[in-house]
Amino acid sequence: MIHKHHSTDGTDENALSNATPHQKAMQALVEIMSQDQNIDYKQSIRFALSLASAYLEMPVGVTCQIDGENYVIETYYLDEAAMLPEYVVEERLINSVNNSPYAMLMASTSVVAVDEFSNHPETKTFLGQYQMYAAFIGTQLSLNEQCVGGLIFFDQASRLQPFTSIEKEFVQMLGQWMQKMMHQNQLDEQLSMSNERITLALSGGNLGLWDVDLTNKNVVLNDRWSQMLGYKQKELTHRLSVWKRLIHPEDLQAAYAAFKSLVKGEADEVDHVFKMQHKDGHWVWVHNRGKVVARDFHGMPTRMMGTHMDVSALRNAEEEVKQLAFYDVLTALPNRRLLLDRLKLALVQSGRNKTHGALIFIDLDDFKTLNETLGHEQGDVLLKNVAERLSKCLRDGDTVARFGGDEFVVMLDNLEAKSEVATTQVEKVGDKIIESLNQPYQLNGIEHHSSPTLGATLFNGTTDKIEDTLQKADIAMYQAKNAGKNCLRFFDQSIQSNLINKTKLAEDLRVAIEAEQFVLFYQPQVNRNGEISGAEALVRWIHPTRGMVSPLDFIPLAEETGLITDLGSWVMEAGCKQLVEWEKDPKTASQDLSVNVSARQFQQPDFVNQVVATIHKTGANPKKLKLELTESMLVDDVDDVISKMSQLRVYGVRFSLDDFGTGVSSLRYLKLFPLTQLKIDKSFVDDILTDTNDAVIARTIVALANSLGLNVIAEGVEIEGQRDFLAQNGCHDYQGYLFSRPLKIEDYNTLCSEYDPPELTDDDALKNMMLL
Ligand code: C2E
Ligand code: CA
Ligand code: CA
Repeated sequence: MIHKHHSTDGTDENALSNATPHQKAMQALVEIMSQDQNIDYKQSIRFALSLASAYLEMPVGVTCQIDGENYVIETYYLDEAAMLPEYVVEERLINSVNNSPYAMLMASTSVVAVDEFSNHPETKTFLGQYQMYAAFIGTQLSLNEQCVGGLIFFDQASRLQPFTSIEKEFVQMLGQWMQKMMHQNQLDEQLSMSNERITLALSGGNLGLWDVDLTNKNVVLNDRWSQMLGYKQKELTHRLSVWKRLIHPEDLQAAYAAFKSLVKGEADEVDHVFKMQHKDGHWVWVHNRGKVVARDFHGMPTRMMGTHMDVSALRNAEEEVKQLAFYDVLTALPNRRLLLDRLKLALVQSGRNKTHGALIFIDLDDFKTLNETLGHEQGDVLLKNVAERLSKCLRDGDTVARFGGDEFVVMLDNLEAKSEVATTQVEKVGDKIIESLNQPYQLNGIEHHSSPTLGATLFNGTTDKIEDTLQKADIAMYQAKNAGKNCLRFFDQSIQSNLINKTKLAEDLRVAIEAEQFVLFYQPQVNRNGEISGAEALVRWIHPTRGMVSPLDFIPLAEETGLITDLGSWVMEAGCKQLVEWEKDPKTASQDLSVNVSARQFQQPDFVNQVVATIHKTGANPKKLKLELTESMLVDDVDDVISKMSQLRVYGVRFSLDDFGTGVSSLRYLKLFPLTQLKIDKSFVDDILTDTNDAVIARTIVALANSLGLNVIAEGVEIEGQRDFLAQNGCHDYQGYLFSRPLKIEDYNTLCSEYDPPELTDDDALKNMMLL
């Protein structure tokens, strides 16, 4: 044991200056060893080095630690310029101990002292940094009987006197003290490490543990770590490189960066997820957490520990949720939500880069029919094929999404800033898509054909919004459908204006009936003698701000919105009331009234009842009521149509087939329906004098009507020539501007009361006679 020396003089300084060399050495050691217990290991080593080098009057004091083949050295030297017993720390890493004082220490268990480098067989060959030294004294440091480093003091000047035995003993005792400190420190570290280990183990169940010794890159892994990846412990290399080998290449860089910032001291912990390859090849999602648990004198990490947790189940569930939320199940394409997300981004980007993007809506023509005739399974196969083909038509940055049903949407990004150029770019893609989707499909081993219709719009983030962009592409697609399908159309502003107009009109239409904005006009029908035999009721909408709106503009709209049923009943009732009025006046008592019936109106299950109820309610004579149907109405559910017509025929209601010749009805079926009249469409009458084709059609219709025992009337008769031609070919009932335009009821009644049938010329009379 070393005891503190008590000086006989008043001060320690005086005591030291008078002390024997032995006493001075003891004094220095006591000071070193009695230092504050609370300062940390590193500080305490530094303090010891500075006191010791002062005592030895050797300006450089070093402790080094062996680190594999490298030495981390810490050098203390006396700052002579400051003339203070302060020591400056200089840290260096040297790569090899060969041919250095350290090698001499390693080789000897006792203190090594060299008074003069040039006189010593080993040191005289020293090179580099050691050439600046002239003397050294040092000892190895060992722990558990293993050399772990050294303690060494240098001097640039050679010794005036050889190292004394007291000095050698001092170095030896200081070395022993340092070994004890190192040992203590190691125990402390291990204790804190096992605390860390417990903490980590508790922080998650079923954890793989890892423990990296950074000084030699060796790794300790527990069984669970290896099992997680399907390995036995001995099948894995227990080196740091085990991660590099097993982490997915995609994740490697990020994982490496995280480790690196830990090692560099930029982060306290790693906490990240990466994929590692299981022995059987599949990828395991690993949640890795770890921290530095030991550092060297300089604060550099020497040891890290952490845990692996298998989070594959969680990740897969997350992926699945993501897949469900953002991808279409059938085609695995992005769904509407994801496309909207990307569109939002693309809008921002195009605004920033002053470029264009484009949206293309794609609808498969007649997909519904295919789906119904072939079955949904084959429909699904077709959709998958379409998805694949679409993906092939696009570049990497583009998105193709499925919006549902047979609707696909393509988003093109980063198109030219000039809209003409961008348009051409979109057209090229559109052509490619059309060509690809037009190729036959193999469904159930049978070749099938399908074709797409495309609507496109350009967008740029400075002016466009998401909703508008979508709507524009949608409108363009409908426009393309109207243009005959299987083509691409760009959004056109005027079309949109029409659409807005239409929406507004539809709103107005809803209130028009209640607001009594409808009136019936009457257009006379004239027979072979030029007498007015009746009229066609034609509805007019007196719009509060637009004035008179043509039925051509609002009847289709009423059909679309379903308002036609209310409007139709109103027309029916107004017409029947008029019939009752006419009966009161002998001049009009014999008049018929033709009322137009629209498809949707006729298709109502209780249509017959409605008409009968109206007849009863108004007291109209059903024999004077003629309902005008169109050919297309006869095609669907033939039995139902015949049944309805027959029921009404029982009451005496008659039926005229409007716009005849323009439709698709097979003439063979015509006789199935209890019709009374065919109405030659105006389009044939128009050119009846100039177009032989139309003339032939008109003549055929008359012949057909005759063969079926039906009456025939021509509409749109504007000039006498037309009337004459029709008469010569056997059509003797007419309606048209030649006789009168549709009139307000007052005007119509006036016309009837004043109407003078045109005088028939002898010629006409003769012709009529011959045709009878
Ligand atoms: P439509 O049933 O074919 O009616 C004949 C149309 O031709 C009427 O047009 C009539 O004004 C017009 N017209 C008659 N003669 C001539 C002529 O010599 N020259 C020319 N240029 N045109 C002539 P309007 O009144 O505009 O009616 C258009 C269509 O609206 C009708 O075609 C009909 O399909 C529908 N419609 C009219 N009123 C009703 C109704 O009350 N109910 C239903 N469901 N549809 C109606
Ligand atoms: Ca009509
Ligand atoms: Ca017509």
